Amino acid sequence: VADHGTPSRSVVTTCAYCGVGCSFKAEMQGDELIRMVPYKDGKANEGHSCVKGRFAFGYATHKDRQTEPMIRESYTDPWRKVSWNEAIAFAADRLKATQAKHGKGSIGGITSSRCTNEEVYVVQKMIRAAFGTNNVDTCARVCHSPTGYGLKTTLGTSAGTQTFASVDKSDVILLIGANPTDAHPVFGSRMKKRLRAGAKSIVVDPRRIDLVKSAHIRADHHIQLRPGTNVAVMNALAHVVVTEGLVDEDFVTERCDPVEFERWRAFASEERNSPESLAEIIGVDPQELRQAARLYATGGNGAIYYGLGVTEHSQGSTMVMAMANLAMATGNFGREGVGINPLRGQNNVQGSCDMGSFPHELPGYRHVADDATRALFEADWGVELLAEPGLRIPNMFAAAIDGSYKGMFVQGEDIAQSDPNTSHVEEALKALDILIVQDLFLNETAAFAHVFLPGTSFLEKDGTFTNAERRINRVRPVMKEQSELSEWEAVCRLAKAMGYDMSYNNAAEIMDEIARLTPSFAGVSHQRLDNGESLQWPVNDANPDGSPIMHVNGFAGGKGQFMITDYVPTSERSNRFYPLLLTTGRILSQYNVGAQTRRTENSRWHEEDILEIHPHDAEDRGIADGDQVSIASRMGSTTLRAELTDRMPVGVVYTTFHHPLSGANVITTDNSDWATNCPEYKVTAVQVHRSNRP
Ligand code: SF4
Repeated sequence: VADHGTPSRSVVTTCAYCGVGCSFKAEMQGDELIRMVPYKDGKANEGHSCVKGRFAFGYATHKDRQTEPMIRESYTDPWRKVSWNEAIAFAADRLKATQAKHGKGSIGGITSSRCTNEEVYVVQKMIRAAFGTNNVDTCARVCHSPTGYGLKTTLGTSAGTQTFASVDKSDVILLIGANPTDAHPVFGSRMKKRLRAGAKSIVVDPRRIDLVKSAHIRADHHIQLRPGTNVAVMNALAHVVVTEGLVDEDFVTERCDPVEFERWRAFASEERNSPESLAEIIGVDPQELRQAARLYATGGNGAIYYGLGVTEHSQGSTMVMAMANLAMATGNFGREGVGINPLRGQNNVQGSCDMGSFPHELPGYRHVADDATRALFEADWGVELLAEPGLRIPNMFAAAIDGSYKGMFVQGEDIAQSDPNTSHVEEALKALDILIVQDLFLNETAAFAHVFLPGTSFLEKDGTFTNAERRINRVRPVMKEQSELSEWEAVCRLAKAMGYDMSYNNAAEIMDEIARLTPSFAGVSHQRLDNGESLQWPVNDANPDGSPIMHVNGFAGGKGQFMITDYVPTSERSNRFYPLLLTTGRILSQYNVGAQTRRTENSRWHEEDILEIHPHDAEDRGIADGDQVSIASRMGSTTLRAELTDRMPVGVVYTTFHHPLSGANVITTDNSDWATNCPEYKVTAVQVHRSNRP
């Protein structure tokens, strides 16, 4: 790294990548950002960082950055640069014309987990108050929506229960479907430190990730399950806990609904849920499952950490509830070292959900059908709100193809690349009369847009991100905005052009409104954060300084609710045409669809997505290390370079989805979680052939 000398000033802000939410000192020389220095007083990272936060900021000034609004009649026409006034008027006229022709509910939009709480809040408000519809959804639909559903159903709150520091007090770490050393590196290092200090671990993952076996780390149990059998694993563990007398009876009696608990106890005791009955389905020795269950239940503080390997399944919500059942049954809530902790992929997944981005929930996870909640927002916003939930993202695509959904505002997301079954998504986007994309770059989705509104990078934003431990971190402007309007200003201008007056003097005022209307944010303000306080929601009269640990004196929803979690196999199974199962994940240097990291020096480390395949599966197909291979599912096919590795079990292959040319989502199916429609990215039956040898 070049030495850029002494900074002339510095600004403390928050990383724009993963849900750890590391704080950095952005060091400047004049208007140039010369380095990002991990901030030692940052509560989430305590002076640590990874290669993304430290080095991958160059995209903010990349030549691909678009800084002027653009419009075009049809997505096949060339773009025309126009003034903000013209772009906003064009967008509003088309949206209004679409509603006049097809009805109020024919338009909607998607919020972004990469944007600030304040930016997300104004977009959902614009859609509800100015568009007059609840057709608002979040990109969290395709990652952690089962977390919201499952945790709210069982515990009463749609959020992880612990602070990151809590892991230092864990005795047993149950890590399921997450690879924190690559995807959440700073927290992954903290977890590693705890494991090196003697904590035990159980890793549930088809892939042999670093935390199964690496320098000085050996997992006590690696449950190397078949993809798609998470719930069977949880039921097997629950069976052991219930039948071997390992339930924390005092905790359950005091904290949980007794009727639901007894129902669940009877369910978990059934022989069909024993490790021996489920071993063949899971593909793991029943004794390994029994020992893992005993370790989690009796080893001291047991903490569950999980990622998208839990949620992105047809039983994602069932699995979240199954984990909550297990943690309640063993008394692992309400203190340091325990709990259930979703590791959020994007920097503001938690916040975008908190801010009312779901079609059925206003900010603070309150249902749109609740009269008192609607009355509160109606009084403040001065409009009448709908009591019926709107469309989820997959329903928007389906309705677009049917012709009943014709207009869409997309905030900072590349749905054409990130959502499953790419050809279906593209068909939907082509069918729209008006697609407005607000982004830094002309991404894959913008290829189908009629209006492009330039967005702002995290280095220009003023607001807050909420990390995976519910910590509300300040994002401060480091550089001058590259476009004339900030994102929230552009949204307010569009709302006004649609006939709804929405205006603020600054982002702090938006947070004041959020606090006024959202009980869990009642005590949050930019001023408190700027005074150096670090707040984890809920922040309210009962918890004026925030809540590092949830459910300390009982569950937020009253009694903890045990749920029946029958294992239902996914319909996506290997067969003679598609004999392998594909699962997906991330690597350390890249981030999601790569829109940011591919425009930084990080791309030098990994310039393409790779297919990991076991040597036996490769040998059967005549594939050598480094060969180009074609990978096909019943949805489509693509080409990747193969890497032979025994990290993968026989019968399972793995790739990342960081590069658009690889097109991993051309292959993924339409299967989704039964409760939330979160796509089943993690299981796709595929065939792999050698395509040529370089
Ligand atoms: Fe950014 Fe996450 Fe890395 Fe921290 S761990 S620097 S938040 S990408």
